[in-house]
Amino acid sequence: MFSGKTAVVTGSTSGIGLNIARAFAKEGANIVINGLGNAQAIETERSKIETDFAVKCIYSAANMMIPDEIRKMIADGIAAFGSVDILVNNAGIQFVSPIDEFPDDKFEAIIKINLMASFYAIKAALPGMKAKGWGRIINIASAHALVASPFKSAYVASKHGIAGLTKTVALEVATQHITCNAIAPGYVWTPLVEAQIPDTMKARNMTKDQVINDVLLAAQPTKEFVTVDQVAALAIYLASDAAAPITGSIQSIDGGWVAH
Ligand code: NAD
Repeated sequence: MFSGKTAVVTGSTSGIGLNIARAFAKEGANIVINGLGNAQAIETERSKIETDFAVKCIYSAANMMIPDEIRKMIADGIAAFGSVDILVNNAGIQFVSPIDEFPDDKFEAIIKINLMASFYAIKAALPGMKAKGWGRIINIASAHALVASPFKSAYVASKHGIAGLTKTVALEVATQHITCNAIAPGYVWTPLVEAQIPDTMKARNMTKDQVINDVLLAAQPTKEFVTVDQVAALAIYLASDAAAPITGSIQSIDGGWVAH
């Protein structure tokens, strides 16, 4: 579906982002992966994308906290493949704490990575999309773009912010065959979710099983985690021609979480 196109997926060394990158590669797009982690493990994933799907894949080590590095990531994609047609802003971090104890540096890092990085990436990628008269921007938001949970002030603020950014960009480029949408997953079983369990156990004085059943899955009427493949399939759909009239939307994929 996307052969001849290039997709940049931020935070794609793990979890949702890695599966989205692989899904776009499966549909024939050349890929720029990005994210933190062990260099050898990242190289293994990068070369696996090339061999599994017969596309080209480069790795950008851009830190999403640093605007110059974000600009370079987009420039590297254009230099390697001629264009960046699909941008998936996925990199994200979480920190769980009551607000009166929330560390300043953690709050600022979450706003930078989860919100501001998307601004810098969109700003850098849009001129090329406008020149080609086609583009797809997909921001990985969260159910927390629509509703809040206690102890996640920075994350909820960043994800509500990305919802606003998504709608604004969509309006600005609506006549240019460029769409901008957000995906709002509920709980997806990834390292990000696993890592917040110990802090949630502490903040709520609960066991691990209580956190999984009474906090995480309590939010999802289906009582099941969303899978990374289901999120990736929605991203592919939003980039497809069938989704051309869908723009400025926040697509819930959350087992019914925000319905109640
Ligand atoms: P994850 O921890 O598995 O992956 C996060 C990715 O972001 C990794 O590749 C990591 O290296 C990268 N990253 C983190 N800080 C970075 C930085 N400074 N610069 C560059 N890359 C950086 O998490 P995930 O669960 O796959 O989350 C991906 C996105 O989905 C996030 O935006 C998250 O908020 C969102 N999300 C996740 C869930 C869930 O339940 N897992 C639910 C809703 C939304």
